[in-house]
Amino acid sequence: MSIIAITGTPGVGKTTIVELFSEGDFTIMSVKDLAKQYGCEGDFDESAQSMDIDIHRLAEQFESDLLDDAIVDGHLSHFLEVDAIVILRCNPSMLQERLAKRGYSEQKIKANVEWEMIAGTWSEMIEFELDQPILELDTTNCDPNKTYEEIIEWINDGHSQNSRQARIDWLAE
Ligand code: ADP
Ligand code: MG
Repeated sequence: MSIIAITGTPGVGKTTIVELFSEGDFTIMSVKDLAKQYGCEGDFDESAQSMDIDIHRLAEQFESDLLDDAIVDGHLSHFLEVDAIVILRCNPSMLQERLAKRGYSEQKIKANVEWEMIAGTWSEMIEFELDQPILELDTTNCDPNKTYEEIIEWINDGHSQNSRQARIDWLAE
């Protein structure tokens, strides 16, 4: 049994990839659904245009003694008790396009593009001293099926490759 978090800035491709896992033997869940299930939703955040999630309370309540292998979709999924973490990355200009297509406000696009630019998710993982195996993948110009296959390969290898810091640095490009 193992639980894998798929994390990264909104728009990097988490949900697209997680949906590909529905063909396999994995139970699929999202942080959003878990927050609902465990009553860890807060108020609607007008500026972010999304529901607040009390991720630390959810992390305490989240029962990871599931029977199946599971994949958790969400930009906060790395805060849950998981066995391994996949962090997806996307070039900020491509991310901007993806989020604009989604109809996000200018402000929300800017906030997310900046978060990706500074590798914000990595900062959170480092700050919380997470010690799980981490796989970082760039989805910028990559077929989702290829990304999916790389993750499967990594899982089947026992998540052996294990980066402890970002290899991708958009500021250095
Ligand atoms: P998230 O769940 O991280 O917010 P989504 O999966 O909803 O992101 O959206 C990502 C968008 O990027 C989709 O339109 C998807 O088709 C596109 N995309 C392009 N390449 C990839 C890839 N390699 N992996 C995942 N998504 C990709
Ligand atoms: Mg999503």
